[in-house]
Amino acid sequence: MISVTTTLTGFSFIYFLYSRIPYAMLCKTFERCEATTKRLAITEYLVQLFLQAIKLTPSGLLELLYMCINKLCPDYEGLEMGVGESFLIKAIVSSTGRNIKNIKAEYRSTGDLGTVAMNSKGSQGTLSMPKPLTVHQVFQTLKDLSQITGNQSQKKKIDKINSLLVQCRGSEAKYLIRQLEGKLRIGLAEQTVLSALAQSIVLSKPETSKLSQEKIEQALADAAAIVKSVYNQLPCYDMIVPALLEYSIKDFPDHCNMRPGIPLKPMLAHPTKSLTEILDRFEDRKFTCEFKYDGERAQIHLLPNGKSMVYSRNSENMSDRYPDIMSKLANWVMPTTSSFILDCEAVAWDKENKQILPFQVLSTRKRKDVKEEDIKVQVVVFAFDCLYLNGESLLRLPLEERREKLRSAFKETENEFYFARQMDSNNIDDIQVFLDVSIENNCEGLMVKLFDGEEASYEPSKRSRNWLKVKKDYLSGIGDSMDLVVIGAFYGRGKRTSVYGAFLLACYDPETEEYQTICKIGTGFSEEDLLNHYNALKGHVIEAPKRFYCLGENPVKPDVWFEPVKVWEVLCADLSISPRYMAAVGKVDASKGISLRFPRFIRVRDDKGPEDSTSSEQVMTFYYNQANSSKGKGDDMDY
Ligand code: AMP
Repeated sequence: MISVTTTLTGFSFIYFLYSRIPYAMLCKTFERCEATTKRLAITEYLVQLFLQAIKLTPSGLLELLYMCINKLCPDYEGLEMGVGESFLIKAIVSSTGRNIKNIKAEYRSTGDLGTVAMNSKGSQGTLSMPKPLTVHQVFQTLKDLSQITGNQSQKKKIDKINSLLVQCRGSEAKYLIRQLEGKLRIGLAEQTVLSALAQSIVLSKPETSKLSQEKIEQALADAAAIVKSVYNQLPCYDMIVPALLEYSIKDFPDHCNMRPGIPLKPMLAHPTKSLTEILDRFEDRKFTCEFKYDGERAQIHLLPNGKSMVYSRNSENMSDRYPDIMSKLANWVMPTTSSFILDCEAVAWDKENKQILPFQVLSTRKRKDVKEEDIKVQVVVFAFDCLYLNGESLLRLPLEERREKLRSAFKETENEFYFARQMDSNNIDDIQVFLDVSIENNCEGLMVKLFDGEEASYEPSKRSRNWLKVKKDYLSGIGDSMDLVVIGAFYGRGKRTSVYGAFLLACYDPETEEYQTICKIGTGFSEEDLLNHYNALKGHVIEAPKRFYCLGENPVKPDVWFEPVKVWEVLCADLSISPRYMAAVGKVDASKGISLRFPRFIRVRDDKGPEDSTSSEQVMTFYYNQANSSKGKGDDMDY
């Protein structure tokens, strides 16, 4: 149960002096969260922290929240926290005067630079007590840091980090360094922080204390659901937090409506292994099949003022990457359409033959500083959903109605814009033929979507069972590819000695925030691929495996370790339980994980961040869904 009363304990002094939230108070909360794995306990610690802020410094709540999720601004504004390991080591050396060799040795044994920084500070004598840090000061310095570019930027960054490190006390250095690295990894998943935010708002209202315990619990659950749903549609704390402080929980959604210019987290699909699985799932329901285009997801926005932008599936602003889409937009928007958010796929296109080109062609396009006149690979847009139109959200409408609106608000324009090809028959033979046609047209397969009724609404950020994907290779293997993070590599042999010849891959567990090893891969690479991978990865080599790499007791040991930055799409024959790999450990076996048999590299997924990679939950589902249950349960082999 959460207590409504708050105590200021030892932090009141700093509060009193600076009317700011002490950084020590935040770090104390981090320590408590780190010491438990219980989600309820973590939520409660956060609620207590937020309640204090709401009561004493409501204007500081937004910064406090950003610090908890370790972000500086909404994703689409593109300011990133991550400071490279070598910078941080230099900063620790210069702020503590410790020998770099000792620092590196301690880092290799702990795998955590934060702990190294804290220990280094601890062993250092101080002549005078520096002024205590506040959350505001740390947040603003981190923001400044992320904007430093150009001349002398390295020195300027190290000086800034130093200025903070010098003021750190106790565990502050540990969390400061982890924040600078870009991830805290103490269980503060965004969903937990959202729940805590909602609960603290409810508990801060005097009228809550008059309710029965049962009613309070209900109010807390309702508030968490409301805040999460609003966040899904308007992922912008800069708007949500002030509205929450100003209005009642009930009224606040009216002041936080989705709008063009702010990207929603896209809806995702569940993999299936056969067409009969689709028929089983959608039995007696109306559904529709669409081509699954093999390009890059593009959420296109038009504001009433005429401004337009394209966002990636990670809410990254890609408008500069696609100036050609931006400049042609007016050709395919009907005159009556004044604002919209469209869900589309941008696909490489052969203008001469009016044909879709494979994904590999799209991936050769430049990703930065693209000038329209230099573009060699043309793209077209295939629109499959409309989420917002002329000032109104369409999210709650069934797909059938959203599609009607889509078709009336835009027009197909040759070589520029098309509606996703669709087929509405529920007959399995028709679907099989449509699947074959999609493959002939260089698509990946089909998306099959529930078409009418309440469940056919658009569910932002959800991997929904109301959207199913069927890929062409569904008959062989496990039905879908996986997107895995490269965390280590082995040097090649023979003519491959100057590059990495094999790699260690991991999936991601969002609950524990760990990367869990899943396989060693050395198949599917051309000589050119290997050279490209070497060049792309060599700058991300780290001294030791990160503390959040789950490797098991008898781990596979690569020659080099990497930061978790690169995501690759991989296919495999099947999955097996393994004592050496740790994917989904604890889910199918207490100490063993799941590994991939005969993994094969398909392609790099630059559109996915490491935390968007296949989750351990999904790996577990793949394992249980294997076509032949007797297969894949044998002993693991080390490829
Ligand atoms: P996957 O990345 O395999 O989970 O597949 C989902 C992706 O397929 C989406 O993120 C879109 O980029 C892409 N896609 C292609 N065609 C469609 C479509 N008709 N409907 C929804 N998503 C599509």
